[in-house]
Amino acid sequence: MATNKTFTMIKPDAVEAGNIGAITKMIEEAGFTIKAMKLTKLSSERAGEFYEVHKERPFYNDLCAYMSSGAIVPMILEKENAIEDFRALIGATNPQDAAEGTIRNLFAKSIEANAIHGSDSDENAGIEGSFFFAGTEKF
Ligand code: ADP
Ligand code: MG
Repeated sequence: MATNKTFTMIKPDAVEAGNIGAITKMIEEAGFTIKAMKLTKLSSERAGEFYEVHKERPFYNDLCAYMSSGAIVPMILEKENAIEDFRALIGATNPQDAAEGTIRNLFAKSIEANAIHGSDSDENAGIEGSFFFAGTEKF
């Protein structure tokens, strides 16, 4: 069942580059409502847990090191058709393939340091949102 919610996080490269405001503005202008948001940092163990599904991929260790290298901004977002519309807003994983005007096209540094995460399904949006916001006040 569609929940109209998705989960995102602004990744360390984009936080470091001072792009929290620009990216959040694009998200709101695209019609998403921010339901939860914080500035936080992952330990490498927590990054490993978040990306558990990728643990057999060759880039897993580098990804965990990168994702725990600096501050991140996780958010829960709401919009009709949230999962699909948000994946369209962020663009392809590799910024070289990301469509013009997408968040990754504008802000990503590389296929790894690609500025932002977007959940790929309603089920994962629920799991990922709880990973960061379980027990916190919901709006
Ligand atoms: P997406 O974030 O677009 O859903 P994936 O789920 O396939 O992409 O990968 C998760 C994250 O792992 C990517 O956003 C990126 O940070 C990193 N990643 C993916 N593929 C590679 C790769 N070939 N080399 C390095 N890092 C990668
Ligand atoms: Mg993914």
